[in-house]
Amino acid sequence: MSSDELSGRTPDHDVDILIVGAGPSGLYAAYYAGFRAMSVAVVDSLSEPGGQLAALYPEKVIYDVGGIPAILGRELAADLFKQAQTYNPTMLLGHSAQDLHRLDDGSFLVTTDTGLLIHAKAIIVTAGIGIFTPRRLPVGQEYEGHGLRYFVPNPGELSGRRVLVVGGGDSAVDYALMLEKVAASVTLIHRRNEFRAHEASVAQLRESSVTIMTPYQVSAVYGDAHVEAVDVTDHDTKNTVRLEVDEIVAALGFVAELGPLANWGMELRHRHIAVDTTMATSVPRIYAAGDITDYPGKVKLISVGLGEAAIAVNNAAVAIDPSKKLFPGHSSDPDKHPS
Ligand SMILES: Cc1cc2nc3c(=O)[nH]c(=O)nc-3n(C[C@H](O)[C@H](O)[C@H](O)COP(=O)(O)OP(=O)(O)OC[C@H]3O[C@@H](n4cnc5c(N)ncnc54)[C@H](O)[C@@H]3O)c2cc1C
Repeated sequence: MSSDELSGRTPDHDVDILIVGAGPSGLYAAYYAGFRAMSVAVVDSLSEPGGQLAALYPEKVIYDVGGIPAILGRELAADLFKQAQTYNPTMLLGHSAQDLHRLDDGSFLVTTDTGLLIHAKAIIVTAGIGIFTPRRLPVGQEYEGHGLRYFVPNPGELSGRRVLVVGGGDSAVDYALMLEKVAASVTLIHRRNEFRAHEASVAQLRESSVTIMTPYQVSAVYGDAHVEAVDVTDHDTKNTVRLEVDEIVAALGFVAELGPLANWGMELRHRHIAVDTTMATSVPRIYAAGDITDYPGKVKLISVGLGEAAIAVNNAAVAIDPSKKLFPGHSSDPDKHPS
């Protein structure tokens, strides 16, 4: 669709700042833009906020975020999400930012793969390693949302259920160990005999009550409205066994790609977005923060992404309205924080 055609359409959302990516950098940018009294929309292709923390390592302990001695990935994601909610941003989860149209006044129209149209005065790209989509289970995809899932942000939802976890990496093993505490039973199947997960986790798994089946793959899924059973087939002997399960957690890894953002006209360097010290990209009023950025000396850490997000937001605020100050004051200043 051309810019003229889009300009004639009323945007579904009209905000000061559009944030692309609800990982730690994007969630913190959402908080910070709210703190600066700007209206915010956040899009993320995943259905859960938290980026890599929620999708790749929810059960790992993070030790190197300032002021937080130790915290699980999913807990930090939840805290960042809670902090981001302080100023009520519009959270658009399950939508990927797709096409960018620059308007004559310097603002933007962005479309999503789901057909939304968002108007924003500035954009902050916090897209991490790009759009990552879970590798799908080869069979039974019609049960997604009906017993088949790729994320477990809230283990309590599987309390008392018979769970099948599929996969051999860190996420699969971590999920199996996490769900063992709440589920009625957990079976873990992997198509190879060796697990790719951390040695200590595999040792813990072997000591646990989780039933381990290797080298097995899911060959069929059964159920009416919801998953009721699966066939699992031995990769070597082709022997097939039917297991009665209520839930399948497929942890088969993710495919990451920069996707449509690569066509937004920003200077790219090694599949990352080049930024200057203000976190500005080569496109006026588009800023970037977090793992997606590249500049000399860049280090990919959560703490770095949070700092970059604050820099990006403050500079975007001035780009939108040059009468604004770059430094907004401290959140601890009287009357700065909503009661
Ligand atoms: C196993 C593992 C352990 C780690 N441990 C640590 C640690 O201990 N300490 C530490 O500091 N760091 C750690 N990291 C790194 C840390 O997770 C990253 O630095 C951090 O997640 C980067 O945050 P981000 O917000 O920039 O990007 P991400 O977390 O990657 O989030 C980006 C988000 O953008 C979304 N997105 C991308 N493109 C689009 C689009 N076009 N439209 C909509 N949404 C889009 C993605 O879906 C994703 O949710 C670890 C990483 C891994 C994989």
